[in-house]
Amino acid sequence: MSTELFSLAGKVAVVTGANTGLGQAIAVALASAGADVAAVGRSAMDETQKVVEATGRRFLAIGADLGSTEPIGRIVRETVDGLGGLDILVNNAGIIRRADALEFTEADWDAVIDVNLKSAFFLSQAAARVMVEKGAGKIINIASMLSFQGGIRVASYTASKSGIAGLTKLLANEWAAKGINVNAIAPGYFATNNTEALRADESRNKDILARIPAGRWGRPEDLGGAAVFLASAAADYMHGAVVPVDGGWLAR
Ligand code: NAP
Repeated sequence: MSTELFSLAGKVAVVTGANTGLGQAIAVALASAGADVAAVGRSAMDETQKVVEATGRRFLAIGADLGSTEPIGRIVRETVDGLGGLDILVNNAGIIRRADALEFTEADWDAVIDVNLKSAFFLSQAAARVMVEKGAGKIINIASMLSFQGGIRVASYTASKSGIAGLTKLLANEWAAKGINVNAIAPGYFATNNTEALRADESRNKDILARIPAGRWGRPEDLGGAAVFLASAAADYMHGAVVPVDGGWLAR
């Protein structure tokens, strides 16, 4: 098998939440495989820009708060105008709110669902309208262990990530025949801002590590291979899969 199967040369990728953490690592991995990158988010993208441009690929920062669907049309327009197309979308931006279910507020419910689920759906819809014209495209949603498990004290997060797994399958059903592959990556426990509170809690940290067969937290760059694979021609017959990259967590 030739490594050309995994080449993203000539492709344009949109990655949301690409300033830090998993989104940044995915943006860099896609660029290393040959894709130009539009990085979408509400914070400065300077660090990501530096690393992506060091790979020799083009970089476009698109400022957008995905707490509402308002910027979605503009994200797709700026990508197509600035980089000449839109071949790959990674719905990575996400937030988490922690509280007991008995106390969970409507504000914490809406905030998480709006970013993690609603914006991911409507951005997929807007991107797919471009991909359909070309008869080709790759959409990768970032799911979670809580797409399979219940978790604790994270009601809206679990609902959003279980929702993302369902949406991945629904969109695959509707768009596979149109040449669009919709799949998801379910990261296990990765050391990013998202899991800072867990790592700071000595007993949770110990329990989590004890269950990970690989014996360590994931590093953002551990996700790069799966992202490149799902974005590439090597995954052309993959539709609706939710692929765990979890150090073996789910196998336990
Ligand atoms: P992170 O470091 O907190 O990154 C989250 C990203 O989403 C940041 O770029 C953040 O931007 C962006 N974002 C949040 N709200 C946004 C908004 N309203 N508009 C635009 N961008 C917004 O956490 P991470 O771990 O890399 O998370 C990335 C994805 O992986 C999330 O979907 C998360 O649920 C998922 N995930 C993470 C883990 C893990 O163990 N870390 C496990 C499973 C799934 P700002 O920096 O501006 O806030």
